[in-house]
Amino acid sequence: MKKKDFNSSKVTEVKKGSCLCGAVKYEVHGPLFDVLHCHCRNCRKQNGHFSASTGCKKNDLKILGEENLAWYNSVKDVTKGVKRGFCSVCGSVLVWNPEDGDDLWFSAGSLDDVSGIKVRGHIWTSEKGDYYEISDGLPQYERDPDDPSL
Ligand SMILES: [Zn+2]
Ligand SMILES: [Zn+2]
Repeated sequence: MKKKDFNSSKVTEVKKGSCLCGAVKYEVHGPLFDVLHCHCRNCRKQNGHFSASTGCKKNDLKILGEENLAWYNSVKDVTKGVKRGFCSVCGSVLVWNPEDGDDLWFSAGSLDDVSGIKVRGHIWTSEKGDYYEISDGLPQYERDPDDPSL
């Protein structure tokens, strides 16, 4: 395969997303992670319900309109040094960025068009709200099984 053909391959297709008002846009130049629903108290407070997050390598995310992205130091998160990014114009929840590691997570609902990803499971079910049931049959974890600090 010639290098030139590489751009048309589906694997390298750039994924795009944005907030509700469009002041913050982003591009992902790499693979997306399958979606996790996080039921922790902090995600529920911020999202109004449990969160639906996909993710990517920190280096693969290019944010456009970064001046409109506000950051909240989410000190109550068990994971160390988490910053939660949201649009300062329309309030859309966008990024969950822990201090350690190469990965970050962002709202799956902010993706434009076809994403090719699917929901992988539920984390922090130990803190889920009592007003709903999880009934999709996907794996459930009481905490975050991927977090090495837990
Ligand atoms: Zn916005
Ligand atoms: Zn959470």
